[in-house]
Amino acid sequence: MLEGKTALVTGSTSGIGLGIAKALAAQGARIVLNGFGDVEGPRRQIAALGVDVTYHDADMSRPEQIEAMMKFAAERFGRIDILVNNAGIQHVARIEDFPVERWDAVIAINLSSAFHATRWALPAMRAANWGRIINVASVHGLVASAEKSAYVAAKHGLVGLTKVTALETATTGVTCNAICPGWVLTPLVQKQVDAKAQAHNLSNEQAKRLLLGEKEPSLQFTTPEELGALAVFFCSPAGNNVRGAAWNMDGAWAAQ
Ligand code: NAD
Repeated sequence: MLEGKTALVTGSTSGIGLGIAKALAAQGARIVLNGFGDVEGPRRQIAALGVDVTYHDADMSRPEQIEAMMKFAAERFGRIDILVNNAGIQHVARIEDFPVERWDAVIAINLSSAFHATRWALPAMRAANWGRIINVASVHGLVASAEKSAYVAAKHGLVGLTKVTALETATTGVTCNAICPGWVLTPLVQKQVDAKAQAHNLSNEQAKRLLLGEKEPSLQFTTPEELGALAVFFCSPAGNNVRGAAWNMDGAWAAQ
């Protein structure tokens, strides 16, 4: 379905971003990977799906590096058709204890990076009259939790940016939507499981059940594969008029 299209997925060396990149590659899209840590493993997994794959090491907290990545991808593959703004970090602390440097980093990586990537992607999408911008927000873009001020502010902001992007492109073939997952068992969440295990002297399994039980009525983690399938739907013809949605896949977390 996506043969001939190019997808750039930020923060795709791990977790949800890698899951979405694999789902888009399985539909034939060329992939531009980005993120830190092991690059060769993810690159091999994408190449095994039979599509072209490349990588850029932009730090998504740095606007000038985002610009360089967007120009690199456009030069390498002609145009970016699908932009998935996924890179994100978390920091957990009460507001009065929240390190200012962590606040700035969460806002830069989880929110401002999507603005910068979008502003570089839109002109070519408009010219082609086709594009998909998918912002990986969170159920924390819809509701709040204590001790996550920067993350909740950034994700609510990302849902707002999604709506504005959808309005500004509403009469074109470019759509913009947000995905709002509940708990997904990635390295970002495993750190929070580890913190619970340590704080309450629990096993890893007990800490996972406690984490799910506090917020997610289904008591199940959403998987990167399920989120990848939702991204594929947004890219399909059936998604042509899905615009400005903040689609939760959260085990009924936000229904409470
Ligand atoms: P993860 O830690 O597994 O992956 C994060 C990715 O972002 C990695 O590839 C990492 O290298 C990259 N990254 C981090 N800082 C970066 C930077 N400055 N520049 C470039 N890349 C950077 O986390 P994940 O759980 O897969 O999270 C992906 C997205 O999904 C995030 O935006 C997160 O907020 C969101 N999300 C996660 C959950 C969850 O439960 N895991 C739930 C809702 C939303």
